[in-house]
Amino acid sequence: MLNAKAYSAVSATSPLAPTTIVRRDLTEQDVQIEILFCGICHSDLHTVRNEWSSLIQTVYPCVPGHEIVGRVTKVGSAVTKFKVGDLTGVGCLVDSDHTCPQCQAGLEQFCPNQVWTYSGKDKHLGGVTYGGYSDTIVVDQRFVLRIPENLDPAAAAPLLCAGITTYSPLKHWDVKAGKKVGVVGLGGLGHMGVKFAHALGAHTVVFTTSKNKVEDALRLGADEVVISTSASEMIRHTASFDFILNCVSAEHDINAYINLLAIDGNMTLVGAPEKPLSLGAFGLLMGRRSVSGSPIGGLRETQEMLDFCGKHNITSDVETIAIQQVNEAYERLLKADVKYRFSIDMASLKSE
Ligand code: NAP
Ligand code: ZN
Repeated sequence: MLNAKAYSAVSATSPLAPTTIVRRDLTEQDVQIEILFCGICHSDLHTVRNEWSSLIQTVYPCVPGHEIVGRVTKVGSAVTKFKVGDLTGVGCLVDSDHTCPQCQAGLEQFCPNQVWTYSGKDKHLGGVTYGGYSDTIVVDQRFVLRIPENLDPAAAAPLLCAGITTYSPLKHWDVKAGKKVGVVGLGGLGHMGVKFAHALGAHTVVFTTSKNKVEDALRLGADEVVISTSASEMIRHTASFDFILNCVSAEHDINAYINLLAIDGNMTLVGAPEKPLSLGAFGLLMGRRSVSGSPIGGLRETQEMLDFCGKHNITSDVETIAIQQVNEAYERLLKADVKYRFSIDMASLKSE
């Protein structure tokens, strides 16, 4: 077994702090990766602070991180997909049962026996899986992605969660030229949603509560920006959207957005606020509108998204930080004060 440096939280109220964890010896299907960068997703914060406890209890110590980019340092004897030195990524899943209809269809995000990259059930060592706030990870080759070499690794890391989580519903709902698409919440997910909606050719409108993000939204690819706290700005878009991607991490009024959907329009929630959101019936039934949700994406589609990013030179706008700044970064995330994703440089872990 291998000792790895990491940062973990030991309870919902304690800060992340240095620790040592164990990674398994490679099975014949495994790839060992030296982690170069790991993005900070708001889900890391929700999990570390046990905010989703009504659904799942976080098991401590918790080593978060599911936006992992690194180089292969070792491969198992049956590994065919990767060789030492390859630039690779690991997202939110590290395993599934490979046999259920969802896995067969390449939709591992719906597998009933999926294994999350962190806080999942570790089949090999027992206990829970540990994520990417670490210098090393060992993962089955089927859950390792290829990162196009033309992409900056620090800025590519967030594609592994923020990227696929926004790309997948945009593709599912057939976002393309001629469609009017809204993106609500210009954070880590939202800014990727804007880049993808724009790249797919849609007329893209950003909804933000932050007045200081307007210029950025336009630079990222928005055609229009709406300050969502302004009733008069909102009303101008009544009943006009084909699709809205809602990326908000906290409680907010979703009915205000439902009213902006055209007949048969859909709003997909990818944001996962701690508390339930209230839903009025009339907004839905008057326009035969729908609200749905979407979790991450399958492995095949994640690779498709990464290749799309390689082709169109799309990455996340990142603020690269040292691991020692992670607790401060969490506080800033809560204030929507990041442009637009923190990416942890794991070289900083060497000094721990
Ligand atoms: P983030 O970077 O913190 O962005 C969230 C954005 O939501 C903020 O930048 C802010 O945008 C807006 N916002 C925050 N509080 C708000 C409030 N009270 N009212 C209205 N708007 C508010 O978070 P993220 O990493 O993008 O994640 C967003 C959510 O998606 C989280 O709940 C996360 O757990 C979830 N998530 C889901 C999946 C999935 O598979 N479905 C995957 C990853 C993450 P403005 O400043 O523009 O208003
Ligand atoms: Zn995430």
